[in-house]
Amino acid sequence: MTNAHDLVVIGAGPGGYVAAIRAAQLGLNVGVIEKESRLGGTCLRIGCIPSKALLESSELFHETKHSFASHGIVAKDVALDLKTMLARKDGVVDQLTKGIAGLLKKSFTRSTASVIRCTSRSPSKRPTRSNG
Ligand SMILES: Cc1cc2nc3c(=O)[nH]c(=O)nc-3n(C[C@H](O)[C@H](O)[C@H](O)COP(=O)(O)OP(=O)(O)OC[C@H]3O[C@@H](n4cnc5c(N)ncnc54)[C@H](O)[C@@H]3O)c2cc1C
Repeated sequence: MTNAHDLVVIGAGPGGYVAAIRAAQLGLNVGVIEKESRLGGTCLRIGCIPSKALLESSELFHETKHSFASHGIVAKDVALDLKTMLARKDGVVDQLTKGIAGLLKKSFTRSTASVIRCTSRSPSKRPTRSNG
């Protein structure tokens, strides 16, 4: 698996994918090992991005409920639709994780450069490869 690569990066989070893209730009044949199905690491999947998407929604809700009146804006019956809020958050995460996959795909110009879906500590598990 790794014999074909000049560099193998474990983890496709902000640390890993940036390093992998830069190494590929510098001409190395890079492999990225990622145990999760979606790329982008903690930040994109469960950290920075989803939390900021929800923060934006809750800020808008709070503003609508508590700040509009002083501006003379009347918003009656303001309610929170949590299902829609969470679906929007999932959509943002989906779009950005796919963006990372696209970025890696674009950067990996060599035929053997790849994202390998497996856990690096489980060599017994047969990895699956994809282009991004
Ligand atoms: C709720 C929350 C909010 C945050 N908000 C912000 C923010 O606003 N701004 C900010 O700068 N930072 C924020 N962070 C921190 C940010 O998420 C991390 O600093 C960043 O994700 C670290 O990047 P990383 O690439 O080092 O690690 P990670 O993003 O954790 O990526 C590591 C990747 O490696 C994979 N991996 C791990 N072990 C293996 C293995 N053995 N085999 C294969 N794959 C493996 C993981 O699945 C993961 O995809 C937040 C974190 C959380 C939890």
